[in-house]
Amino acid sequence: MTPVAGIKGPNMSQLPLVNASESHHGLVLSHGPWEQALRAILMDPGLIAAGSIRAVSVSGGTEWLVDRLDVVTDLPQGSQRWPLTNWIILSMERSGQTAMQVIQQARPRQSQTVVAVVLNGHERGKWEGVVHQQGHCFPLQSLRVVGPGMLALDHQTGFPAEPIPEQGRWSRTAGALGASLWRQVRSSHVLLVGCGRNGTLAAWQLAGLGVSHLTLVDPDQLELANLDAMPGMALDDVGQFKVLALARHLVEFNPDLLVHCQPEPVTEILARLRGRFQLVISCVDQEAARLAVSWLSRELLIPHLDIGTSITRDDRGQTELSGDVRLLLPSDGCVECVGGIAVREQSLYEFAAPRGSLHRGEPIAWHQQRAGSLGHLNGVAVGAGLELWLSLLRGTTSSFWQRIAWSTATCRVDGATVQAAEDCPHCRPVRETA
Ligand SMILES: [Zn+2]
Repeated sequence: MTPVAGIKGPNMSQLPLVNASESHHGLVLSHGPWEQALRAILMDPGLIAAGSIRAVSVSGGTEWLVDRLDVVTDLPQGSQRWPLTNWIILSMERSGQTAMQVIQQARPRQSQTVVAVVLNGHERGKWEGVVHQQGHCFPLQSLRVVGPGMLALDHQTGFPAEPIPEQGRWSRTAGALGASLWRQVRSSHVLLVGCGRNGTLAAWQLAGLGVSHLTLVDPDQLELANLDAMPGMALDDVGQFKVLALARHLVEFNPDLLVHCQPEPVTEILARLRGRFQLVISCVDQEAARLAVSWLSRELLIPHLDIGTSITRDDRGQTELSGDVRLLLPSDGCVECVGGIAVREQSLYEFAAPRGSLHRGEPIAWHQQRAGSLGHLNGVAVGAGLELWLSLLRGTTSSFWQRIAWSTATCRVDGATVQAAEDCPHCRPVRETA
């Protein structure tokens, strides 16, 4: 039996790990408490789910059954509980904390059994667990959720390789994508920067495609004027951070979706955005944020999908709708050399300026730049963007710029493969070291 990973520290002599090859420890939960707890700790990894457990001896070992879980802010301590009580602590991995460290912090009495499960914050379905019983610690080897789908997560393999569904929730999507693409999409972690109109639609379409893990970044709170083109949002959500409201609705739609929220400006948290993302999407209306995502794309070597829409009205009152969708691979083009940055110096200043800095120049009201926005235009642009990503996964496209525009009733769709400019300071260093 492989010892539980990450066990170290001076206190281990007090909590020896016992070779558990003859005694399997498994955890069994019903899907109601599991989903409720998961939702809460995904939304706020500082929270903990805890509840009492009972043991059932099964062939070859013990199963620990959980009937209910309560979401709490403080780690339950052994000294606060009766000597013969048994409980579970379910938490999200924070700063590399192991299940054994959770046990050590909970300080259970010798007579108390405690199961600690730490969910991996980065890999869907991965977790680590330890059972403390009579002063000894054993690895927890399996976790089962009783309910639709009968989720079973093995300690060694994590989420089982999913068969291609022929029926049920994902059958239509999987059928349209085909087996290989479906698996790629399903195992993807997408970083989405900007959760306004385009961003919200992108999040819903990604969740609908079956993407398993999203990280949402947006510092804004939801305003009444956002509701017309942000599906799923309700009046009650007004005033909340967009990312938190969106995440809550997404998880209601798909309980096994892992969502991380960052309600902060992307320019200020770049150092923290170090996940193993398969795609980063920017749906932003500030060039500094667009530049920041572009920088991240190059630093982490992630494809960058930039989606923007605009509605303008000329002097004669003629309205033009347009959408620009750019799929940019690191070193093969960036938002600076493909399409360009509107006010380069200003954008670079905002990118580098500390939080709370005054903006340079005259502030520009949104209606001075555009005539408004329309949900159906957002839908067309986002759909075009995600199809570009699927084409990338299929291997049929590379860096590509798709432009969609309407003037009068005619829809014009233009698209072309793009390359980095020879003198692009952003792309060049990557190409030179490639
Ligand atoms: Zn470039």
